[in-house]
Amino acid sequence: MIFGGLQKNSFIDYPGKISCVLFLSGCNFNCPYCHNPDLAKGCLKCPHFLKESKVYDFLEKRMGFLDGVVISGGEPTLQSDLVLLCERIKNMGYPVKVDTNGSRPDVIKRLVDKGLVDYLAMDIKTDPFHYSPLIKKDCDYESILSSIRIIMESGLPYEFKTTCIKPLVDEQVIRSISHIIQGAMLYALQQFHKTEVLQPEFFRKNIYAYTFDELMLLKSVAEPWVEACIVRN
Ligand code: SF4
Repeated sequence: MIFGGLQKNSFIDYPGKISCVLFLSGCNFNCPYCHNPDLAKGCLKCPHFLKESKVYDFLEKRMGFLDGVVISGGEPTLQSDLVLLCERIKNMGYPVKVDTNGSRPDVIKRLVDKGLVDYLAMDIKTDPFHYSPLIKKDCDYESILSSIRIIMESGLPYEFKTTCIKPLVDEQVIRSISHIIQGAMLYALQQFHKTEVLQPEFFRKNIYAYTFDELMLLKSVAEPWVEACIVRN
């Protein structure tokens, strides 16, 4: 298990709970706007690299103060011992939320079937049929669609979210995604704020930003198809 960082307190990452966030290192996607480039690249020498024992010590000490643990990344489902990590955290009594890019439906299914996750959040980057080449070369859209199905049928609270950046996301893309996730519990459209990113060259070539009003227009496209749609800025 490679921990790329720990956020000790968060009021926004796990709905309704005060949580900490564990960032697992490494990702199989290459989102231009990824604001955790070190984590995505899976760098063992990243400045925030943490030993596993330190993470468990921290969680032991915070029992009674934190309401939940978020496991994020990078892409957590790439770590071979994610199931063990979730099991250990659940045994401490913490509810667990897992953030995923949806590329490993088999892992999501295992977590659900074993009762090791309490909330799932999946990024849908763009129309699942068009992840290649910008998000991932040769992306298998079936994996993305399977993850969506597993999450919607899990019986757990969940959300889908899309970071809205031109030209990856437009009205037609939001329409396609909304059709695929028809009836979803929650769909969040996230405004992009430029910080450090994985592919700086992308931002030199493109006009990427959506204004808040434009995001509200995208929301109106998605809203009829899902139970709730929100804009996060
Ligand atoms: S934003 Fe994309 S590249 Fe970055 S960690 Fe998430 S899925 Fe991976």
